[in-house]
Amino acid sequence: MDIAADVVVIGGGINGCATAHALAKRGLTRVVLVEKGHIASGPTGRSSGIVRQHYTHETLAAMARDSVKTWTNFADEIGGDAGFVNCGVAFAGGDRDADTIRATVTMQQRLGIDARMMSVGDLEELEPALRSDGLTCGAYEPGGGYADPALATNSFAAAAQREGVTILRKTAVTALSIRAGRIEGVTTTAGGISAPVVIDVAGPWGGAIAAMAGATIPIAVSRHPVVILQRPAQWRTSTPVWVDLTEGWYYKPERQTAIMVGSVRDTETAVDPDDHDTMPTYREIEECSAAILERFPIMAEGAAQGGWAGLYDVTPDWQPVIDRIPDVDGFYVAVGFSGHGFKIGPAVGRAMAELVLDGACRSYDLNLFRYGRFAEHQSSRGAYGFGIVG
Ligand SMILES: Cc1cc2nc3c(=O)[nH]c(=O)nc-3n(C[C@H](O)[C@H](O)[C@H](O)COP(=O)(O)OP(=O)(O)OC[C@H]3O[C@@H](n4cnc5c(N)ncnc54)[C@H](O)[C@@H]3O)c2cc1C
Repeated sequence: MDIAADVVVIGGGINGCATAHALAKRGLTRVVLVEKGHIASGPTGRSSGIVRQHYTHETLAAMARDSVKTWTNFADEIGGDAGFVNCGVAFAGGDRDADTIRATVTMQQRLGIDARMMSVGDLEELEPALRSDGLTCGAYEPGGGYADPALATNSFAAAAQREGVTILRKTAVTALSIRAGRIEGVTTTAGGISAPVVIDVAGPWGGAIAAMAGATIPIAVSRHPVVILQRPAQWRTSTPVWVDLTEGWYYKPERQTAIMVGSVRDTETAVDPDDHDTMPTYREIEECSAAILERFPIMAEGAAQGGWAGLYDVTPDWQPVIDRIPDVDGFYVAVGFSGHGFKIGPAVGRAMAELVLDGACRSYDLNLFRYGRFAEHQSSRGAYGFGIVG
């Protein structure tokens, strides 16, 4: 296979598929997406899929706001199903979080996001099963919820194919072709593809792809377990996604019968992206069960059902790198989403299409995500103690 393309997108996760779709939608007729496994076979397929707009950085909040519109109107805007459940998202905090929550809600409201401050009484009213010990404030956004990441990504891939994108599954990029500081294409396990533009959206493998072009992107790959517990019959009611900033856990309803527990604490242990434990350990199940029991005592009558562990591609400040690589014309990256890159996928696709086709992103200020920030020792870490919250 030696083919010619306008753009090669490396990676069939949410951000690669949304990027390929956005480029084709903007009129490019020869976009090729190369995926070494199947669509959403990387971290995207193991994502919790939580869709919230509560970010302390304005750019991320704006990207989440626009993406919520896409998740909400998915069938009309993209086609197919994203499995979006609009249950709302509640943040629960203590004294140390109050100023940041207030500033974030004020900023969100300025951006046109429906977000509001919550008293402890408001939180208890929102979910009578909540034990509010240690909580002093909160925030709520009715527009959020959760989507089905594998379904959403496959729907994006199908929509991209309808727009003319070629998707090569079970095909790995093994080398980049670069001559005189310009990208000329890629070598894959199925042959070569020539293209003047190549976009690295390869998640935990993205640093290795960037290194093929001599670019250094500091990505630590870490393992993140989630546990699903069956809810007792008396708690099969609708509840929002909960983010507990005091204890560092999130609780995501799985429809009305179950609930997922995961941590928002920084994970530091590096793992091999191709060889790691994909199941939660007994101890991890115990920790998640103990956490939900503290916050929702009604779960004393729940039961652990199982779970899995996926990968985070974590940068030093927990923000992605979304940029062109200055020394290699035509080479772009959107990697290092640091455990929070599903929800903003639609906005990432739009941003990448603007970067490639317009020479700059008009919709968002991507300065936060620039490639050069680590060499300049600039950090874009969010204002909370947990990097992933942003
Ligand atoms: C357990 C868990 C829970 C999460 N929860 C949330 C959440 O609630 N909300 C949220 O917003 N985010 C969440 N995230 C993070 C989010 O899922 C990721 O940030 C996002 O899915 C990353 O998508 P991506 O397209 O950038 O990359 P990936 O999903 O990593 O996709 C990259 C793809 O590139 C392919 N690839 C790699 N190398 C090559 C190569 N050489 N050739 C061809 N293909 C290649 C891989 O096979 C992979 O499919 C969670 C992640 C995990 C693991």
